[in-house]
Amino acid sequence: MSATTNAAEFERAQRSIPGGVNSPVRAFRSVGGVPRFLVSARGPYVTDSEGVEYVDLVSSWGPAILGHAHPQVVEAVQKAAAHGLSFGATTPAETDLAEVVRERVQAGGVHPVEKLRLVSTGTEATMTAIRLARGFTGRDVLIKFAGHYHGHSDSLLAEAGSGLATLALPASAGVPAATAALTIVVPYNDLAAVREVFRLRGDEIAAIIVEAAPANMGIVPPAEGFNAALADIAHAHGSLLIVDEVLTGFRVGAAGWWGLENAGRPVAEVHQDAPDAHHVPAYVPDLITFGKVIGGGMPLAALGGRADVMDHLAPLGPVYQAGTLSGNPVAVAAGLTTLRLADAGVYDALDAAARTVSAAVSEALAEAGVAHSVQRAGNLFSFTFGSETAPRDYVDVQAQQGYRYGPFFHAMLDAGVSLPPSVYEAWFVSAAHDEAAIDRIIAALPAAARAAAG
Ligand code: PLP
Repeated sequence: MSATTNAAEFERAQRSIPGGVNSPVRAFRSVGGVPRFLVSARGPYVTDSEGVEYVDLVSSWGPAILGHAHPQVVEAVQKAAAHGLSFGATTPAETDLAEVVRERVQAGGVHPVEKLRLVSTGTEATMTAIRLARGFTGRDVLIKFAGHYHGHSDSLLAEAGSGLATLALPASAGVPAATAALTIVVPYNDLAAVREVFRLRGDEIAAIIVEAAPANMGIVPPAEGFNAALADIAHAHGSLLIVDEVLTGFRVGAAGWWGLENAGRPVAEVHQDAPDAHHVPAYVPDLITFGKVIGGGMPLAALGGRADVMDHLAPLGPVYQAGTLSGNPVAVAAGLTTLRLADAGVYDALDAAARTVSAAVSEALAEAGVAHSVQRAGNLFSFTFGSETAPRDYVDVQAQQGYRYGPFFHAMLDAGVSLPPSVYEAWFVSAAHDEAAIDRIIAALPAAARAAAG
């Protein structure tokens, strides 16, 4: 018998924490029921306060690509902690991490991350990136896309995905109207709309910020060539392109979504006289933001990009950014070790697990007669209910029969599988999702699909 229950913990938490949670989606508002209070995690499993173990398809919302508590990551963290938890000073390991990122994020010999600044959360990374773009260009206006989530800074909450989508909030109270007015929200995958905004206000626009492959309204991959076209449009108007890889970076591949999109275009296709067959990227972002995997489960994130832009950050330039815990040595140890372990075999395992699980879910839903579509972006995937047409933007995503997800989610949870508690979130596998874990997921699916059909 465990000493407590999830229900008792939830009641206790709500007395001293707003809504009982420290991040809204954890509250199970859109699926109903009592959140599981987790006490441990290992490999593909998490265990709650009642001692119940679940196969985990949340993976801490992305970071845990190696599975939870990978022994080598834990050892690196323990070693770093023994040397001191926080110095508030420069460390050699920060430079190691910057070098690893610069080296890994490459396509065709092009390395878009010439310089990197470490921060503690994805929110800080995107917040700093837009301040930097504004400082660099001397312009104030931003373009973001409906349904994209870039964290919770004031400028980026308009029509954001993730928790705002889950709670059906168009924006957040508390954001000054004057700030919100500087963010223009455009429908996703709609280049004509982007061009029109630039035609009208091109010389005011500091940057376009875009999720590399959107994963916060479920997965809605970019149309072929969309990101490259954004780069062209931005650059034609003296604006910057900020590609947000907080979620996709180092998860969908060694060089993130940008690496996946840009691997495989032979130079010969672009320049007929090119002598050999290396590849050139279709576009190069000015700034890229990272989070999640880069910290290996610890609070660490980063922004990186063109050296001339990055050098506008203090102390070299006039754009201010700082952080007591930026580059924290324990977090850097976790991130570095995770990236060093994330080799081709790890990405093959992630891809294979994603293929097997997404196909099994689709098969079970079809068997139960639930119309659905499967969206994939590398090893990230999600499902929309009620139509077989893949959504291309936030309006399409919102038109789905989202009410089918709650019963599906709870049937899976009752069978020992923990899914993201919202239809607007991606599902996350890890390289530790072995046959035993995947078999448990597959065994749970028929009843869950019937519940969704209900
Ligand atoms: N950008 C994207 C694409 C994200 O998915 C997230 C978080 O889910 C963020 C930014 C914000 O990161 P954090 O939650 O670490 O502040």
